[in-house]
Amino acid sequence: MDIHQEDNCIFCKIARKEAPSVPVYEDDHVVAFMDIAPVTRGHTLVIPKKHYATLDTMSAEDMARIGSVLPRIAKAVILGCDTKDFNIMQNNGKRAGQVVFHVHYHIIPRYPTEGALF
Ligand code: 5GP
Ligand code: ZN
Repeated sequence: MDIHQEDNCIFCKIARKEAPSVPVYEDDHVVAFMDIAPVTRGHTLVIPKKHYATLDTMSAEDMARIGSVLPRIAKAVILGCDTKDFNIMQNNGKRAGQVVFHVHYHIIPRYPTEGALF
């Protein structure tokens, strides 16, 4: 693990509570918080506490942990947003639109009043 990378990673800092966020969920291995620039109301990010730059470097254990809580977090988010529809988005690499190189899943609630995003 590259210690320097973790020191400069904004999502590591949020996971360690060294940087502010609006928290949505936390357990021993996973954190969820509101996106700072929401695409729609309720846009939430779900991350492993451990630093992985991209999904292909993530451990099977952390994959399973995120996989087991992601649908439940999404359900809570959409219930709180009073909608049933949502996108899960997950970007890897610059050409795929990844800006923050700490693995994260976007939960993007969708509303009848907005047009198509993609
Ligand atoms: P990506 O394009 O890497 O998949 O998405 C990165 C996401 O992280 C973007 O939606 C962006 O708004 C969000 N983001 C970047 N910096 C921060 C931050 O400091 N705090 C929070 N809460 N979200 C951030
Ligand atoms: Zn990180």
